Amino acid sequence: MSDELSAARRRLLRGKRPSSYSLGRGDEKTKRMEFEEFTKRVRKLPRHGLWRYGQAGDLPGEGDTIDPVQLIELAKANQNRPVIAFTHKPPTEENLEALQQASDLGFKVNLSADNMAEADEFCDLGVSVVVVLPLEYSRKTKGKEWLETITAYKERTKSLPKTTPKKRRIAVCPATYTDTRCSECRICSNHERNGIVVGFPVHGSRKLKIKTG
Ligand code: SF4
Repeated sequence: MSDELSAARRRLLRGKRPSSYSLGRGDEKTKRMEFEEFTKRVRKLPRHGLWRYGQAGDLPGEGDTIDPVQLIELAKANQNRPVIAFTHKPPTEENLEALQQASDLGFKVNLSADNMAEADEFCDLGVSVVVVLPLEYSRKTKGKEWLETITAYKERTKSLPKTTPKKRRIAVCPATYTDTRCSECRICSNHERNGIVVGFPVHGSRKLKIKTG
């Protein structure tokens, strides 16, 4: 798992998160109760509102393992609501099977890759992929303010690779260089995106606020 990508995503997810949840830590009983409470809350989310799973954590399961039972419970609780979900857990056979079962129930998850070559590896598995991008892809900031204009940013980054080594298109998350909201973009919840890999620049996030609402 990339700490950089996790940190980048945490920065991205700051701000208003009206429909976001993450699992807590504690002993098994506590975690189980928290999970059940969590799925109850998921069931009560608006039927068509986009929400974001796992602001600070990952899919249920210890370490690199996805707990298939809890993931299915989560998928059933979600009842096909549009959701943005990521995992850094590796695409082992067992994890992929759990992800497929959840996907069949309408709960689709993006696999997080640490670099473009790994993004290609994950895409070859037929899953949706996001990737951490190098610093150069970031729009410069100072505190919470943009330090370069959008025109200057686009000019500076226009020569950077826009595809993976296997020529899959990279789409830089627009919330990392504009004030776009996830509800306007939605690409991370769209799993029919023709192999587009969503990229998150590792730094320069302007204390980024990706807004789901
Ligand atoms: S703004 Fe778009 S690309 Fe960025 S996290 Fe939200 S849905 Fe994903």
